[in-house]
Amino acid sequence: MSTDLAFEIRDSGIAGKGAFAIRPIAKGERVIEYVGERITHQEADRRYDDDSMDEHHTFLFTVSSRTVIDATSQGNESRYINHSCEPNCESEIARGRIFIFALRDIAVGEELHYDYAYQRSGDETAKDEAQYRCRCGTRTCRGSIMEAMEEFHRRRKEAQRKKAAARRSAAPGGVTQRAERRTVSG
Ligand SMILES: [Zn+2]
Repeated sequence: MSTDLAFEIRDSGIAGKGAFAIRPIAKGERVIEYVGERITHQEADRRYDDDSMDEHHTFLFTVSSRTVIDATSQGNESRYINHSCEPNCESEIARGRIFIFALRDIAVGEELHYDYAYQRSGDETAKDEAQYRCRCGTRTCRGSIMEAMEEFHRRRKEAQRKKAAARRSAAPGGVTQRAERRTVSG
């Protein structure tokens, strides 16, 4: 567990527990690293059966197509940072590690959150939608902690574009990666 954290864990109005600033946090500051056991997607599927859960309550974060971090095991306080559609933090993946950064100055007592933006597979059921409903209560709440549909379509289009480009050239070029949690779909 980390010491001298900029936040502490308390009960949250959003969901269960949350992370609250105990000192001013400056825009751009690295708040904490999201850590936990590094497992494969197959192992994550084996551990968590979405169909038996009414609400998502796992601490999975996708690092790459191969690796998922499960903060239930060997995790730190970062796993209590809630989702919000109007977040004051963001997650970034760098060299296989995940870091949470402040998007703006944050005052003492404010709850920290970032946009989970779970990747959609495109075939989410009504049950999935219910499981991933957002209750952040912000003015621009999109109603889901999964990525916006526009983002899903943009990502799919981008994947198709890359595939086409890869067919044209043997060297597909650099792949940029966004820090996104994993969509667990039943
Ligand atoms: Zn929301």
